[in-house]
Amino acid sequence: MVDKRLTIQKIKILEYLHSVHSHPTADVVYEAVKKHIPNISLATVYRNLNQMVDSGDVLRLEINGEYHFDGDVSKHLHCYCSRCGKLVDVFNKKITDYAIKNVDLPGFEVSNVQVLFKGLCTKCS
Ligand SMILES: [Zn+2]
Ligand SMILES: [Zn+2]
Repeated sequence: MVDKRLTIQKIKILEYLHSVHSHPTADVVYEAVKKHIPNISLATVYRNLNQMVDSGDVLRLEINGEYHFDGDVSKHLHCYCSRCGKLVDVFNKKITDYAIKNVDLPGFEVSNVQVLFKGLCTKCS
């Protein structure tokens, strides 16, 4: 996964994102990466995250005006607990394939879909 165009900052950010499934915000990523690169700034983390979103190495989800980052860029959906904010992966090929196949949008060749399910996690319900 890790290739030469990546700087040490990007490598540490990616390593962290690949080690968690919590879809952290930039602040959380910053706290984690700071342990490896003490002089890194939050702005640098933001910049690197956004560059990796543009290059397709990281997924960015906007929920309630806040950005969450995901190191898993494979086709998957998310479910959000509207009480505690927990964000979990939903791997349901049936839904993604169905949505992509049936979107029927002239002028577009659709290759991926983002769906956010909302509800309550078992702890909150
Ligand atoms: Zn919850
Ligand atoms: Zn995810």
